[in-house]
Amino acid sequence: MFPEGLFPSIDGLRLEALRIDTQSITVVLAVATANAACPLCGESAMRVHSRYVRTATDLPWAGIRVHLQIMVRRFFCDNATCSRRIFAERLGDALPAFARRTNRLAKALCAIAFTLEVREAHAWLTLKPCQ
Ligand SMILES: [Zn+2]
Repeated sequence: MFPEGLFPSIDGLRLEALRIDTQSITVVLAVATANAACPLCGESAMRVHSRYVRTATDLPWAGIRVHLQIMVRRFFCDNATCSRRIFAERLGDALPAFARRTNRLAKALCAIAFTLEVREAHAWLTLKPCQ
């Protein structure tokens, strides 16, 4: 298997391919679970409508940019009382709906930005001559 933390923690995630070039690493993944819960009513759905590739950026590996290509399925919601007929499976907190970067990358970027901001603020407050 793979070392823990190498990929975002998404239930049922399966590695399909790994492409490495001089600029980046592309990880092709698919979700291997049989069903998905409708985000509106919560009912489990098994009928697949279609598939598409969702792309996102993840934490770099050894300083090399990592792109995720995840094969995501659209399902029919068969709950007659639900207003949503078709929905895309959700990938959990690791990659929220419509996000273009993983949650762990977003957290790392926030931490770096906050640290740099604090350092700049400290430098500005301590080095700037009084006026
Ligand atoms: Zn539904």
